Amino acid sequence: MSKNLIERLNEGHVLCAEGYLFAMERRGYLQAGAFVPEVVLEHPEVVSQLHREFIRAGSDIVQAFTYYGHREKLRIIGKEKLLEPLQKNALKIAKDSRDEFKDLDLLVCGDVANTNIYDPNDKKTNIECQKMFEEQVQWAKEAGVDFVVAETITWLEEMKIALKAIKDAGLIAVCNFSIKRDETTRDGHTPGDACKILEDNGADVVGLNCFRGPKMTMKLLPEIREKVSCHVAALPVPYRTTEKDPGFINQIDPGCDCIPGGNAFPVALDNLYCNRYEMAEFTKECVDKKINFIGICCGAEPHHVREMAVALGRKPISYKYYPDMSKHYALGTDPTLKHLNTDVAKTL
Ligand SMILES: [Zn+2]
Repeated sequence: MSKNLIERLNEGHVLCAEGYLFAMERRGYLQAGAFVPEVVLEHPEVVSQLHREFIRAGSDIVQAFTYYGHREKLRIIGKEKLLEPLQKNALKIAKDSRDEFKDLDLLVCGDVANTNIYDPNDKKTNIECQKMFEEQVQWAKEAGVDFVVAETITWLEEMKIALKAIKDAGLIAVCNFSIKRDETTRDGHTPGDACKILEDNGADVVGLNCFRGPKMTMKLLPEIREKVSCHVAALPVPYRTTEKDPGFINQIDPGCDCIPGGNAFPVALDNLYCNRYEMAEFTKECVDKKINFIGICCGAEPHHVREMAVALGRKPISYKYYPDMSKHYALGTDPTLKHLNTDVAKTL
């Protein structure tokens, strides 16, 4: 009998690769803007391959790509009829990918996210949100997921509705906020206070994902760690967001003057990318700060995930191809390399 998420977190760290939306956009299978994961129906093999790559890089979790495949997102592109097949296909793809790696003890998770209809001044929307969360959680439960993540939610009250849907279904709940510029939820709570309220409402893991890069995410974690006694999650975006612009939704690339409209989000963030070592540093800092659920969100690629796994002291499958510059023709140190090349490395 394999251990559940909480038992694993009690024993150490869990690594979670996310960021499917951006990865699929970059590969040409998903449109930036509406950001709806139709790819799980149109090109399931591409989603399976990304699951595989993340697993090979060391992700412990296979997250079903249901993110933004919810009723409101499908409404806006006029394809609400695809809701159920899209959700179910995403869950099946995740499970099938897990089953390809029988030697690894992987967890599959379902996912719910910001509904974009929640309005604190319109009680009707609470009911609509509740229905949206419940239908998704139900499909995830039927698929036999190990837990459900509620993520990129910016309102505490909306998160509470998502949490209740997950707990009412008897599932383990991970609740990750995305925190805006002023370091509060949209209903005015500090991340620590909001997470404490969620813990009191039954959340199993609380924390942050998306919006902020590693440094701007790390900045908010100590307050959360201090205020809750449950496990804490941290999944930043791999971009160098700053005090001036802590969220990746508003970013200027000073090295480029040809980005339409000037905002590098979402499709011209390349020059602000964190490299793999920066994500490894973030991982080590999480370990120091007793943040046990560690991951990466929009922008993630398998090379980031592998370095994060290595920072946790692991050798994932793709470690087989971990960099070894000793055999590089000019920069290497292998004694059989030609001096003709190594002697002039600095001049190249
Ligand atoms: Zn994200």
